[in-house]
Amino acid sequence: MSHQVLEAGFHGEVSVLDGPLLLRGVGPGANPGLHEHRRLWNEPARATVEQLIERSWKIGLTGRGGAAFPFARKLQSAVESGRKRELVVNCSEGEPASAKDSSLMLTAPHLVLDGAQLLAEALEIGHVHIAVPGERPNVAEAVRVAIRERRGGRKAVHFETHVTSGGFVGGQARAVLEMLSGRENLPVTAKTPEAFAGLRGRPTMLCNAETLAHLAAVSDLGAEVYSRWGTAAEPGTRLLSIAADGPGGLVLEAPYGVPLGELLTFCGYDPARPLLLGGYHGTWLAPHQVTSCTLSSADLARFGARLGAGVLLPMLPGDCPLTYTAQIVDYLAQQRAKRCGPCTNGLPALASACKRLPGVRSRRESGDLTARIRELAGLVTGRGACNHPDGTARLVGSMLDTFGAEIENHVDGYCHYV
Ligand code: SF4
Repeated sequence: MSHQVLEAGFHGEVSVLDGPLLLRGVGPGANPGLHEHRRLWNEPARATVEQLIERSWKIGLTGRGGAAFPFARKLQSAVESGRKRELVVNCSEGEPASAKDSSLMLTAPHLVLDGAQLLAEALEIGHVHIAVPGERPNVAEAVRVAIRERRGGRKAVHFETHVTSGGFVGGQARAVLEMLSGRENLPVTAKTPEAFAGLRGRPTMLCNAETLAHLAAVSDLGAEVYSRWGTAAEPGTRLLSIAADGPGGLVLEAPYGVPLGELLTFCGYDPARPLLLGGYHGTWLAPHQVTSCTLSSADLARFGARLGAGVLLPMLPGDCPLTYTAQIVDYLAQQRAKRCGPCTNGLPALASACKRLPGVRSRRESGDLTARIRELAGLVTGRGACNHPDGTARLVGSMLDTFGAEIENHVDGYCHYV
């Protein structure tokens, strides 16, 4: 499998290597404007909902915001409701380590807007809401510029931007809907999926920006051409944020099926080091798992991992995975909305215990502390109004499962990775 990847710096610096799909034509000095965009992508022909559902099934399109729910099924649910619907484009991310939607909106905003327009027209929605990240004002501005450029085009759809208040949980689907309803940009419990009852209680297609870009791409290229990227089981590509929570981070488009080790080597990272896959709520992979895995849902599932929103956090030389996990848990404990018990009490206690772990020098204390961390992780799981405590507990459990030997090393006063 050749590398069909393109790397795009978060601030829009890009270099094309070979065969990107969504980001084709994006390169140094490229203009993200509508005129340039139309040289690469046709204005999407209007499609019926049935046609969009069929296309989405053909390429197995799943939501790229993290949940990986089949897009066609979500659309079918919204259609079957028979009521007036809403469309929300979510490019707010929230997680500091995720920059792929920001990069997409900076470099190819019209592909996302094409996808949104197609969907809005098919569902007879005249007003589309776009949630943009409060902590990245350049993204909000890029989206506004793109919207202005489209004013002379098809008039049926009006786009409106909404700026989130930022923070880890602010980008969650329900937090975005709360904000659009005029309430605090924080998640709430929802018994019914938003495709049945979302904004204003109406069936709501709340779509990740990258998901809509794929919808536009398959609508222009056709499923057969689109499926030249990726594998038979998973056609297409993924936008990946690599080490994007620190300096030197990048966003890269890669087809499904690329070996993870090769991908990391290509990006300048050592595959013989641990990888946190799926972001701050993600799963640790040990080096032998990294080098035996491809970018594939089935492959990752062998190790209990999911790609989520496409965040990859490789450990740099000198980084200790126990210390890094503790830093993330500490950050996540501060990001809680302070509404639910597991977040108010449980996450700070979990963060405090994780911070102590790398410094423990007695086997008995290490065993007790590990047991306490597992207990705290169990106590917060399934008890919050949103999945923030569950995701944090999953990260901690993954650390304990992956680095059991490393915890022993720390007791002996050294870290294999530092
Ligand atoms: S679980 Fe935590 S983050 Fe989620 S709503 Fe409750 S307090 Fe907020």
